[in-house]
Amino acid sequence: MGLGGISIKNSLADTSFETMQDKLLNLKKPFLKSFNPTVESRKDRIRRIIKLIEENSENIHKAISKDFGSRHEQLSQLTDTLSTVAHGKHVLKKINSWVKPDKRKARFPLNLLGSKALVHHQPYGVVGIISPWNFPVALSLGPLIEVFAAGNNAMMKLSEFVPETSKLMADLVNKYFSEDELVIINGGTQTSVDFTTLDFDHLLYTGSTAVGKKVCAAAANNLVPVTMELGGKSPVVVSNQSNLKKSVNQIMTGKTVNAGQICVAPDYAFVPTESQDEFVSLARDFVKNSFPTIKNNPDYTSIIHLNHYDRLNALIEDAKNKGATVVELNPANEDFSQQEHHKIPPTLILNPTDDMDVMKEEIFGPIMPIKTYSNFNEVVEYINFQPKALAVYYFGDNNKEMNTVINDTSSGQAVMNEWGFQYAFEDLPFGGVGPSGSGAYHGKEGFLNFSHNKAVLKGQKLINLWSLIGAPFTEKTDKMAKKF
Ligand code: NAD
Repeated sequence: MGLGGISIKNSLADTSFETMQDKLLNLKKPFLKSFNPTVESRKDRIRRIIKLIEENSENIHKAISKDFGSRHEQLSQLTDTLSTVAHGKHVLKKINSWVKPDKRKARFPLNLLGSKALVHHQPYGVVGIISPWNFPVALSLGPLIEVFAAGNNAMMKLSEFVPETSKLMADLVNKYFSEDELVIINGGTQTSVDFTTLDFDHLLYTGSTAVGKKVCAAAANNLVPVTMELGGKSPVVVSNQSNLKKSVNQIMTGKTVNAGQICVAPDYAFVPTESQDEFVSLARDFVKNSFPTIKNNPDYTSIIHLNHYDRLNALIEDAKNKGATVVELNPANEDFSQQEHHKIPPTLILNPTDDMDVMKEEIFGPIMPIKTYSNFNEVVEYINFQPKALAVYYFGDNNKEMNTVINDTSSGQAVMNEWGFQYAFEDLPFGGVGPSGSGAYHGKEGFLNFSHNKAVLKGQKLINLWSLIGAPFTEKTDKMAKKF
């Protein structure tokens, strides 16, 4: 069972295709009159996203905790709501400069006799957004900020894996937005499938690479341009010139915040052969200090659903059966066989091989395979041989290695001596490349991504240029063409 397209029983009734189509037509109506909503109206919508979050954050955090079974409200505050508010405030500061048309130079002789060339940033129209469950606010209202900044309307399909949060969000959106600005669609997998067949002006999908392929295929039928925010296996390279304790603490945070259910979580690590034992020992210390107990500790997040819990346990079992050494970091030696909140303790997989499922699919949970290396160049070649990742991480102080990771590998993001914080830099585009995604939100690139960047030419009035180069074709037109 690979990551992506896991179907679950959910408590959200499906929404019919016809209902969605009617709502979409209504959202498209304002664009029959104009594709130029004022900057003030865009700012007003972004302010209302911020207001919606600020006035309801407690209820939102509670709903997320209920959906997960166990997830600390402070975690949702830091990663989901506060980050989205900061994102909105950043865009409010930048939007005036982003919306201005860009001037371009005409290459033709004499600047086409004074013609003016411009790039106008117009809204596409209605953007469809499908969001996942792991950060249900940041990954729905977050990209919506740039979608609105670019002047679009939006229709969002929220995740059925977090039904309490999705229901609450639908109620809140109805309160803060009108149906000709933003519509929330709830329902299960069939609703998502139908959603992708709608004739949007742009479609943003955040989820697994496997489902992303189906979404792209459905969008292609209507030639809907897409933004894909997908997953993948983000490698971590630990240098032999690094502060190992600091590096391990940061890397293991990546596997324990939200129990590793983060698209930018480090997926597997490369560790110098001679440092593996120390890495394991430091990882054990980190878990003991951060989570003295796990099973009933609200600081340690549940695996979202039983299906994902079974999938992750199957990854560990498969690795064990194929010869890996499995190190469970379970400080209080708790029994995880009977439990309400399906938690999995942080687990290291030593000696992983490429035929193990844990090295074939994105983990999206608290399991960390550790590959050892003695030659840095082989690490780079291994990374470049794999599908392009959302992020590549490097921990160490060797500038040459750092530059090699930045310049000689391809990934959505390259992050040195940090992980995850690339998302918090609202001015950096956030996105993948190839199998980990295409397009981005955040920053000016996000604004441009949800804009149709339209070429506008304002011609001169002096002469008919075509009379110089058009038929009848004579020696004179030939000379003119050569001159041009
Ligand atoms: P998923 O792809 O399994 O499911 C996402 C949604 O897709 C579900 O809510 C479902 O309704 C819908 N869906 C299922 N089948 C569909 C189909 N055939 N057509 C259209 N929609 C369909 O992903 P998930 O489990 O919700 O999230 C985990 C994945 O998301 C991981 O791979 C993770 O890396 C990725 N992710 C990426 C980012 C990012 O920003 N790049 C952020 C968060 C999560």
